[in-house]
Amino acid sequence: MRAGGIKGEGTSRMNVAVIGGGYAGMAAAVTLAQHGMAATVFEAAPQLGGRARRIAYNDAALDNGLHILIGAYRETLRLIELVNPDAGHALLRLPLDWQIHGHFRLRAAPLPAPLHLALGLLSARGAGLNERIAAAAFMRALRRINFRLPQDMPVSELLRQHRQGATITRRLWHPLCIAALNTPPDVASAQVFVNVLRDSLNASRADSEIMLSRVDLSALFPDPAADYVRSRGGRVLTGHMVDAVARNGESLEVQARGEKFHFAHVVCALPPHRAARVIAGLPLLGEAAALVERFRYQPIYTIYLQYPGRVALPAPMLGMAGGLAQWVFDRGAICDQNGLIAAVISTEGPHQDLTQDELAQRIHTELEQHFGPLPAPLWQRVIAEKRATFACAVNLQRPAQRTPLKNFHLAGDYTEGPYPATLEAAVRSGISCAQRVIASPRSLSD
Ligand SMILES: Cc1cc2nc3c(=O)[nH]c(=O)nc-3n(C[C@H](O)[C@H](O)[C@H](O)COP(=O)(O)OP(=O)(O)OC[C@H]3O[C@@H](n4cnc5c(N)ncnc54)[C@H](O)[C@@H]3O)c2cc1C
Repeated sequence: MRAGGIKGEGTSRMNVAVIGGGYAGMAAAVTLAQHGMAATVFEAAPQLGGRARRIAYNDAALDNGLHILIGAYRETLRLIELVNPDAGHALLRLPLDWQIHGHFRLRAAPLPAPLHLALGLLSARGAGLNERIAAAAFMRALRRINFRLPQDMPVSELLRQHRQGATITRRLWHPLCIAALNTPPDVASAQVFVNVLRDSLNASRADSEIMLSRVDLSALFPDPAADYVRSRGGRVLTGHMVDAVARNGESLEVQARGEKFHFAHVVCALPPHRAARVIAGLPLLGEAAALVERFRYQPIYTIYLQYPGRVALPAPMLGMAGGLAQWVFDRGAICDQNGLIAAVISTEGPHQDLTQDELAQRIHTELEQHFGPLPAPLWQRVIAEKRATFACAVNLQRPAQRTPLKNFHLAGDYTEGPYPATLEAAVRSGISCAQRVIASPRSLSD
């Protein structure tokens, strides 16, 4: 058995383990480090980032999936600023410009919120005037009820109740629901969708800005976060899979790589299906485990096609209609990976029946249908994240960060909160767990 913490090293006054080095876990570790608590992070994979991580392929730093951040991701952006010395250059900021190529375009007007959106909706191209007026009225109605629905319902039902037209539903609301909640509108939670509308479209113009990372997703936050934690006496152990956590008197015993480490607090920042396994060994966590067991998951597929460097899209990010690809990204415009196009398909669908080669070929064909003849790709790579996010269903109950076991905290995008599975949900949950640890009087080293 080893003392898990790092007594005597750095300024730690409490032994804290963070299990999982994704955005939630690293947000917890950074927040603890900021308050003089040096945590030990256990990450199973060789690199940090979890579901937002770098994948090295053919000399290119790819991401496991293209990620969109928005200006409303306050906590994520704050922590990136804190740990990433290159934060100013790391994100490409774009004003809201929702384009479904050849079909629809909504741009934020240069006015203060909420007029930027109201005018944007009224002047959107690709939908009739009545539909645009109904869309602006929908946002107004939500504002009147403070974005709090009397009861949850599927997103498609909410849109029906507010008489949203077929075009605006197909080109704006449904794609927005799928992009934000990664859940089909017929089952997606309208309340969570409305929370997203409140904090993205209804707030300031800056909050509705879209941000794309110019660096890979591990380099954006988790890697510099690890440097920050280490520089304050913490440890970040990659390649350390945690097999179990058990109670041992007042402390918690973390088992990893055949060793046992003891901690005063554990922040469990695993993806939900893995967390369920770890917490199964802790009887007090039965209720949380039962909630997680009921989760369903949705996939996200990312298809990278590397063309000769001269190939470019008309915009860094474009919506697509009529095929499998939902969004395409020009990595040349975003992060100087010239000729590299990434297509994204969220939620389940017929693309899952194709082989990876068939899928890449289909996307190549769709790109040609939209943008004209293209040379053959030099290489292609399909990344299928089968459990990309939990399905954000109506009335879904999510476990709280606080658990009946006072020194065991649950972090992760799936824990209780207003947002769907996003970087911001993950980061906020990690911060919240760290704050509980900081506020706690218990300490192994006291
Ligand atoms: C393809 C894709 C696209 C996405 N697009 C967006 C987007 O555009 N915008 C957005 O905001 N969000 C997006 N998301 C969601 C976002 O990535 C997640 O919400 C977020 O990364 C979750 O972070 P987390 O720390 O909660 O969990 P995770 O990232 O899953 O982190 C958990 C960590 O625990 C580690 N681990 C697992 N088991 C063990 C173990 N036994 N011991 C130790 N470590 C372990 C894992 O390796 C991982 O690093 C996307 C997700 C995917 C997959």
